[in-house]
Amino acid sequence: MSVHVIDEANRCLQCPNPRCRENGCPIHTNIPEMIRLFKENRMLEAAQMLFENNPLSMVCSLVCNHENQCEGNCVRGIKGEPIHISSIENYISDSCFERLELKPAPANGMKAAVIGAGPAGITIAIILALKGYSITVFETHDKIGGILRYGIPEFRLPKSILDRYCKKMRELGIKFRPNFAIGGSTGIQDLLNDGYKSVFIGTGAWKPRKLGVPGETFGNVFYAINYLNNPDVYELGDKVAIIGAGNAAMDVARTAIRHGAKEVVVYVRGDEVSASKAEFEYAKVDGVKFEYRKAIVRIEDEGPVFCDMVPDEEKLAQLEAEGADTQKTPLKVLADTEHLIPADSIMIAISQVPQDRIVTHEKELKLNEKGNLATDSKGETSLPGVFASGDVVTGAKTVVAAVAVSKQIAEDMDRYMMGQRGGSNVI
Ligand code: SF4
Repeated sequence: MSVHVIDEANRCLQCPNPRCRENGCPIHTNIPEMIRLFKENRMLEAAQMLFENNPLSMVCSLVCNHENQCEGNCVRGIKGEPIHISSIENYISDSCFERLELKPAPANGMKAAVIGAGPAGITIAIILALKGYSITVFETHDKIGGILRYGIPEFRLPKSILDRYCKKMRELGIKFRPNFAIGGSTGIQDLLNDGYKSVFIGTGAWKPRKLGVPGETFGNVFYAINYLNNPDVYELGDKVAIIGAGNAAMDVARTAIRHGAKEVVVYVRGDEVSASKAEFEYAKVDGVKFEYRKAIVRIEDEGPVFCDMVPDEEKLAQLEAEGADTQKTPLKVLADTEHLIPADSIMIAISQVPQDRIVTHEKELKLNEKGNLATDSKGETSLPGVFASGDVVTGAKTVVAAVAVSKQIAEDMDRYMMGQRGGSNVI
């Protein structure tokens, strides 16, 4: 571990109104309490508290955007370095995971189905199993984790962590049906007919968003989400051009370098990347290059064709006159600047949207205006008793956001199954 967690814990001021927790953490992890217990040699209690608040604490300690969340809000960061909260949380969660005492409530005789074993599905399955429900998880892949396993590279999130979660979930009595897609031969109605009291859909966002330019179907063009699923089967060649500048683009770039690519360049439309600072810095350290103000026009067999972008002075003046935020200079395409950049492979990394297998199969499931699964404020879909959260509802978002929403939805599924509220879901 690169950061000395004891020194870091000793630097914490135990703020009475902790900004790290209140302003910074989407799931309001009790960070000062975690640190206090850790310093009092009560690490297992700290781990227990972390898991109860966030079953994916160990994962979030590795993959969250800490610089914008807990660490970005730590009061120590105002005049110096913030506490390295993520390292402390990781140390505690990782060291104690196997020793966590999970005490499920007595079996209540009710079954619930979870479709998709990504962050949302794992969260719901664990919480409902602890409440005494019999849970079956249906997963199209052979192993659990969803985007955590098949979309985040090993060097950011070791897959062994997900295997440990699988073991822990089995200990809770959760059953898995791997390699099985709901929405094919079996639909949600089959689950309800078989006596599942409630169904949760957490199937994620796996369909790559297209650029919408000519050439996207060529043999040297790949989508980030497909590549990250199994990088070993791709022959990218020496020069890789990446279009898109979020965390997935950084993951692809760093993975390509680890698989032998000699020149990996990320082409950014604007002046800055949308990836987190940490991921951006790691990508640069790994040798990834960045080219800014490049607008993709089309893709050819020899590589992508870009136009240059330049400041849009007219738009800037208009924004200034309106008193709008002009921190980001508006850009426009500069005419007659088309140029081909030779590349062996082109990787498109501009986010994902949900697959529509279940929605196509279940005509009663409504979609929202963005084409994602529509839910009411309680996470219930247009089918009574069928709930959803995570990327399938919001489009691709963060792991911690999926966990935070799923926690609430697990409570609402519980209320629904206990008959404390009806299925009057109007969307
Ligand atoms: Fe500790 Fe920083 Fe949180 Fe204050 S804001 S409790 S110093 S981690």
